[in-house]
Amino acid sequence: MSEMPPFHEYLGVTLERRGDGEVDAVLALAPHHRNRRGVVHGGVVAALLDTALGAAVASAIPKEWWCATISLSVQFLQGTQGLHLRATGRVRRRGVQVAFASGEVKDDAGRLIATAEGSWHLWPHRPTPSGAPRAPHYVVMRGSGERIEVGKIVAVGRNYAEHIAEMGHEPNAGPPVLFVKPSTALVHDGGEVRIPPGMGSVHHEVEMVVVIGKPGRAIPAEAALEHVAGYAVGLDMTLRDVQAEAKKAGNPWAVAKGFDTSAPVSLVAPREEVGDGSGLRLTLTVNGELRQADSTSRMIHGVPALVALASKLFTLERGDLVFTGTPSGVGPVSPGDRLIAELERVGRLEIGVVPDDPAVD
Ligand code: MG
Repeated sequence: MSEMPPFHEYLGVTLERRGDGEVDAVLALAPHHRNRRGVVHGGVVAALLDTALGAAVASAIPKEWWCATISLSVQFLQGTQGLHLRATGRVRRRGVQVAFASGEVKDDAGRLIATAEGSWHLWPHRPTPSGAPRAPHYVVMRGSGERIEVGKIVAVGRNYAEHIAEMGHEPNAGPPVLFVKPSTALVHDGGEVRIPPGMGSVHHEVEMVVVIGKPGRAIPAEAALEHVAGYAVGLDMTLRDVQAEAKKAGNPWAVAKGFDTSAPVSLVAPREEVGDGSGLRLTLTVNGELRQADSTSRMIHGVPALVALASKLFTLERGDLVFTGTPSGVGPVSPGDRLIAELERVGRLEIGVVPDDPAVD
C-alpha cells in the first residue's frame, strides 16, 4: 500500500487541537474552492466539517485506535466569499464502539456558514488492507498494529494460592488444571461480554495472557521465553454455576469456560518491553470498585513453567494464547457493568456487560 498524506493535508487543511475531543480545522481558500460567483462550494464546507469532527473523535481515542465516519449531517445557513474557513469539531458522547460529534464552520467575519452532526465507528486495531486474507480471530500488537491470528486459547486454573482457597480447594494440591477455550470466545478492548441466558452467574477472572510467537512442542522452561511474542491482560469469564455443576459431576469445563465473549484480551505488549512477566501489578475494577489486585510474582507457576507444561500437552503455535490464572477476588458481573482490567507495563482492557440476545446476531 503506498503512503498517502493524511486526508486533511490532501485537502490543505491545518488542524489545531484544542484538547481531547475538540479540534479546529482551518482552510485557506483557493480559487478552485469557489464557484463562478466566488462563493465557496458546499462540498468544500462539508469536507471541512467531516475533517474537523473526525479529527475531534481521533483526538479522544487511544493512539492505536481507528475511527471512520458512519454518518454526517450538514445544515447550510449561508454562503461565503471569505478568505478562510474555520471549522470546530467537538465530541458530544462516546460509547464503546461509536462516538457522536458536532461542530460548525465560520468565515473570516465570524459568520456562521454551516453546522454539522455525525457519528463515527471506533475500533482498536488497524483495518485490514483490501485484498488481504481476513483473520477472523486475532490479537493486535501495541504500537505496530500487527494482527496475529489466534489459534487455540490454553488456560490454567488454580495458579494463585488465595484464589484456590476462595474456591474451596486445598492450595498446592497437585499440578495446575489446564483447559482450552475456542478462539471464537475472543473480544477486543472496548467490546462487550454477553451473558448467556438461563445459565446462572458469570464471574470475572482477571489474568495475564501470554501470546506465543514461535511454535514449539515440549519446550523446556529455560527456553520458554524465546517462544513468547508478548503479553496482554485478559478476562477468563466463567459460568460459575455451570462450572460448579460440572465439578460435582466430574464433567469437563468446556461449556463453563468457552462461551462466546468469554475471553476479552487487550492489545499485546511486546516481550522485549515486558520481560518474563513476573512482578507486574494485575488489577480489575467493576464500576470503579477494585475487585481483584495482586502481583504476577505470586503465581504458583510462572510463565516459563506454564509454557513448558502447556507445550508438553499441546503443540503451541504462533498466535496461541496462554491464560495464566486469576488471583483472589472473583465475583459475578451483571448487565450494565464496566470492567477495567490493568496489567502494569502491559496495558488496559475496558469491557462492557450486556445480556446475550442471539436474535441480534
Ligand atoms: Mg481463570
